[in-house]
Amino acid sequence: MIHRNHPQKEKDGTAPWRSVIPEGFRKQVASKEPFQVAPLIEYLSSGNAAIQGVVVAHIAEKGPLQAVQARSKYDLKYVQCTDSRQVTLHPNRLLEYDILNKRYAGNVTARGTGLRNVRPGGTIIVEGHETCGACKAAHDHQPSLKARDATVTLDHAIYAIISSIPEYVRCMSNDAERGKANAVIQATYAREILKLKYKKDNVAVCPAFYSWTSGHEWLGSTAGVDLPLDAIRAGISEDARLMTEYALAEGRDFGTQYAALTMLYDPYRLGKVNDPRAVFGALGNEMFCVTSDFRAFQSDAPKQASEKRIATPALGSVMYAGYDSSGGHFGHVSGVGGSDGTHILGIMDTSRDVIENVKAYLLDKFPVIKELTKNGERILPILYDPATVKATFLPS
Ligand SMILES: [Zn+2]
Repeated sequence: MIHRNHPQKEKDGTAPWRSVIPEGFRKQVASKEPFQVAPLIEYLSSGNAAIQGVVVAHIAEKGPLQAVQARSKYDLKYVQCTDSRQVTLHPNRLLEYDILNKRYAGNVTARGTGLRNVRPGGTIIVEGHETCGACKAAHDHQPSLKARDATVTLDHAIYAIISSIPEYVRCMSNDAERGKANAVIQATYAREILKLKYKKDNVAVCPAFYSWTSGHEWLGSTAGVDLPLDAIRAGISEDARLMTEYALAEGRDFGTQYAALTMLYDPYRLGKVNDPRAVFGALGNEMFCVTSDFRAFQSDAPKQASEKRIATPALGSVMYAGYDSSGGHFGHVSGVGGSDGTHILGIMDTSRDVIENVKAYLLDKFPVIKELTKNGERILPILYDPATVKATFLPS
């Protein structure tokens, strides 16, 4: 339902910050048409300018944006699927709390990466969603996983994702039940990894499920956990509702997944507002965001930094969006993938060196990315200033 007279909205029900974006671009997103590079940069820049305005007003009232002081101090770690239709947080939510997204296909947690980076009394949300492609792939490939020949027939990055979904979940044929069961088991993995590996039992881990048709739902009990859990949870439920309404008011539907680009970034390096969707004022079903660790790509990376590489589940997620050379099941996000897909890939960071090094790595190691981005022409280097949230598109 769209509350047309809601004070947080324009008269037509759209998000206040999106009224400055040319209507033609908003219609192009709603109709799931691919963007060429120049108009995409124009579209994203207009959304970014609007969000810079929101941040200027916030700074005038509350002072400069403060990045979290240490990796272990976040209020909330929000583990979502990479699906572009997943809940998009309201830009104000990222100004209010110290929130970090982790986005991997299938919202998998089994490797435990980054889970400890939440302060005592903080919260981890592990959120699944309606018609999850990773859960469906796990279901469809169950016979080969069972026959133990999946490591031969599947790309290893995709294998890493779907083998993190346990067999009893993979076998479920009902899509919504499978997505909810996966969120619950991935939250359970996260809770146990925190306790057993990191000796942390003072972080609440909450499984959740988002359906754009029936709403946002919390799964399982969280009795006995401390604030600010309740405030964050209420805020996320509110964002799920409001941001979905904003998207619907622009004429979007969530029936098929769409992305104008795939965005690869390291959220720890982006400061307070570390979600590209918020930085560009995006709504649901337009940006396929993938998180990874970029530290080893610094030109002055310490010797002990791990080898320069993009984490396997992140790479699998990127491939899933639009780089499946066979054009089969995994390249299916419209806009960036499929037969008329643009395969545009944004790399967003605070350092020109890191952006260049990540780009060089992707072009060097993955011939399919080199080919589909036309030798890197369709890789967008995006320099980000965390103090002002300004995003600058550098020459490709
Ligand atoms: Zn998914």
